Amino acid sequence: MNNVFVYCEMEGNHVADVSLELLTKGRKLATELGCQLEAICAGCGLADVEKQVLPFGVDRVHVFDAPGLFPYTSLPHTSILVNLFKQEKPQICLMGATVIGRDLGPRVSSALTSGLTADCTQLEIGDHEDKKNGVTYKNLLYQIRPAFGGNIVATIVNPEHRPQMATVREGVMKKEILDENYQGEVIRHDVAKFVPETDYVVKVIDRHVEKAKHNLKGAPIVVAGGYGMGSKEGFDMLFELAKELHAEVGGSRAAVDAGFCDHDRQIGQTGVTVHPKLYIACGISGQIQHIAGMQDAGIIISVNSDPNAPINSIADYVINGTVEEVIPKMIKYYKKNSK
Ligand SMILES: Cc1cc2nc3c(=O)[nH]c(=O)nc-3n(C[C@H](O)[C@H](O)[C@H](O)COP(=O)(O)OP(=O)(O)OC[C@H]3O[C@@H](n4cnc5c(N)ncnc54)[C@H](O)[C@@H]3O)c2cc1C
Repeated sequence: MNNVFVYCEMEGNHVADVSLELLTKGRKLATELGCQLEAICAGCGLADVEKQVLPFGVDRVHVFDAPGLFPYTSLPHTSILVNLFKQEKPQICLMGATVIGRDLGPRVSSALTSGLTADCTQLEIGDHEDKKNGVTYKNLLYQIRPAFGGNIVATIVNPEHRPQMATVREGVMKKEILDENYQGEVIRHDVAKFVPETDYVVKVIDRHVEKAKHNLKGAPIVVAGGYGMGSKEGFDMLFELAKELHAEVGGSRAAVDAGFCDHDRQIGQTGVTVHPKLYIACGISGQIQHIAGMQDAGIIISVNSDPNAPINSIADYVINGTVEEVIPKMIKYYKKNSK
């Protein structure tokens, strides 16, 4: 009762990274609240799935293992969460802001008439004072995310309704094992008690999953280009530099919108969040929506013709010049020095 729950997304019998990141965050929240962390794994062939989640500090794992639960379909998974939450009455439920989380979260929150904040960038515990009614609510989940086109950072609370639900994109939270030998209880539920037969009305006959073309999220070095790269050909220079540095190429939304690079390479609030050791921003002005996706980079180098570009204020090194003149030199000297 009153615990923190994380819905773990399954790819086959593997727990998705975004869920492990949320377990890490959930552990911190549960510890602060003095309650337990519980994980829900629903899929097919989940023997030993607990081994993947317990090291993240999970106190109880709810396993739902049945043939119709993988690949994900909306109705059975919704029934599992709704019926489990009616029993367990969690105070918080977290899930990935993925295709699945975006489908499942609203269904569950609507069935339980609870609140849901999508795409949170931070989650914290704090109090809320309702001055109008003279009530102070203790230990609420602060669901923090950019709002109004990213121009403000809003803190959203659900004072009355439970669970307080939030989705978070992959890569926003850090994944950290708490203790390899963490001991927790494993509960293998009788799925039929939670999911009516009629929920299996949709059957997935065939499924094609396209492999990611790059590893932008996990890359230790990212070379990112903005509108200042000027063209698709300008981006070819970045791919050449990235090849030399064993890096991945990312882009700003303006560069993606202009067709300079593919959409799946967009970094920022509505793109991918990256945490590289080195981020080289080329012809990127550094608007808040872009910064949201790369501000945790270890070292930031900005290449920009405008000495007052906002990105320069968060950069560790600024190279003031045009990309046309600076990038070829970087390629040339890196090639020379790495021989
Ligand atoms: C709801 C919302 C979500 C958004 N989400 C994202 C997001 O996820 N990611 C994102 O990136 N943006 C996002 N944006 C857009 C964001 O506000 C900016 O418009 C965008 O980041 C600007 O991209 P840019 O820096 O490449 O372009 P610009 O702002 O046009 O900057 C170009 C930069 O290049 C420099 N430059 C020009 N020519 C050269 C040259 N020859 N050599 C060197 N430097 C040069 C200029 O000095 C300038 O600093 C979002 C906006 C909204 C409203």
